[in-house]
Amino acid sequence: MITPRDAVGQRSETVRRSNLSAIVRQLHLRGPLSRSDLVAHTGLSRSAIRGLIGELVAGGLVTETPSAPAGTPGRPSPLVHPESERAVVLALEVNIDSLAAARVGFGGSVERLVRVDRPRAHVTVDEIVSDLVELADAVLDPQSHDEALVGIGVAVAGIVRRSDGLVRLAPNLGWRDEPFGERLAAGMRATVPLAVANEADLGGLAEHRRGAAIGADDVVYVTGEVGVGGNVIVDGQPLVGTAGYAGEIGHMMVNPAGTACGCGSFGCWETEVGERALLVRAGRRPAGGRQAVDELITAAAEGDVDALASLAHVGRWLGIGLASLINVFNPTQVVLGGIFERIHPQITDAVEAELDRRALRASRELVRVSPGTLGVDGPLIGAAELAFEPMLADPAARLAPVRAPRPARASA
Ligand SMILES: [Zn+2]
Repeated sequence: MITPRDAVGQRSETVRRSNLSAIVRQLHLRGPLSRSDLVAHTGLSRSAIRGLIGELVAGGLVTETPSAPAGTPGRPSPLVHPESERAVVLALEVNIDSLAAARVGFGGSVERLVRVDRPRAHVTVDEIVSDLVELADAVLDPQSHDEALVGIGVAVAGIVRRSDGLVRLAPNLGWRDEPFGERLAAGMRATVPLAVANEADLGGLAEHRRGAAIGADDVVYVTGEVGVGGNVIVDGQPLVGTAGYAGEIGHMMVNPAGTACGCGSFGCWETEVGERALLVRAGRRPAGGRQAVDELITAAAEGDVDALASLAHVGRWLGIGLASLINVFNPTQVVLGGIFERIHPQITDAVEAELDRRALRASRELVRVSPGTLGVDGPLIGAAELAFEPMLADPAARLAPVRAPRPARASA
C-alpha cells in the first residue's frame, strides 16, 4: 500500500530524474556549459542546478572547472563538462557499400571510427553479425569498455521494426523479415540496450542534432544511394510512425507512368531520383556504385551532355517530390544527404525552379534547401545518438550509489 508520504517521495524522485535528464541532454548536445547557461536552457532554478550538478559530479558523469572571468562584474559561473570517457556508446552501420563502427563518448565525441568497404552482394545475417563483432572489437577499449558502455545503436539500409530490430525488408542485402537485432545482440553478448533503426532515419537525426539542421524544429531530410529514404522532424521530434516505418519517402508515388521499383510498386520517387536512375539515364552501368557517380559528376563538369541531362532529370524530379513534402510538412529546412549531398551543386537550380513552380507559396517562402554536413558518417553518428537515448532519458540510473527517494518534507 502506498502512503501519502510515499507518494510525495515518488513524485519528487520523478522530478529529480527528469531534471537530471534535462541537464545531461543539454550537456550532451551543446558541450560544456556554465551553470548560468544551464539555468537558461533548462528553466531550472540556480539552486536546483547546483544540487543536481553536485550529484552528477559525484557520479562521475560531469566535471566542473572554474571559468575564466568574462570581463563582466560578478563571480564567474563554473563551467560544467560532460565526461566523455565515463559513458560511451558503440555505433554500428550496415550500409550498401560499407560496414562501420565507432566508439562515441558522452557529449558526442567520436573517439574511434572504422569503415570497411563491402561488395554490393546479398549476405546472410550471420555473416554481417560476425563482421560487426570484429569491427566492434577494433573500436572498443578492451580494458574499460564494459563499465563505460551504456548502449549500442545500429543503422541498417532497410525497413526496421524499432521494437526488436526485425528487418522487414532490405532488398540490397537480400533480407526479408530477418531477426537481425536479436541475432546481433546474441553475437555481441550485449549487456546494454541495443537499438536498430533505418539508416535514413538516423542520418536525419544526426543532421538535426549535429549537422546542417541544428536548432531547426521542422525538418525534412532526404537521402539516397540505390534506395531513397528520409526522415521528418516535427516540432523537434523525429516522426517514426507506429512501428518505425515512417519516412519511406523513396516509395512515395510520383510518376503513374513510371518504372518498376524494388518495393514491388511502380513510379516511386526512388525510380526517378535514385542512383540507378541517375547512372542509367547518363548511359552508365547501374551497378557502378559510388565511383560511377563520381565519374558522372566529373563528366558533367567537363560538359558531357548525357551526364548533364541526367543530373537535370534528377534535379527536376527531386524538386517535384520535395514540393509535395514541403506542402505537407511546412518545414523550415530541407536537408539533402547521400548522393543528393554530393550532386547538390549540379542540381540546385533545377530543384529550386521546381519548388518555385509547384510548392505552395506560403510554405515555399519559409523553407531553405541545403546539403548535409556530415557526409557518409551521418547514419553512424545518428546510431550513436540512438544508443545514448536511454541514458539521456534517465541518467540517474547511471549514478552510483543509487539514492533512496527523499522524505516527504524535502519539498524543494
Ligand atoms: Zn517503391
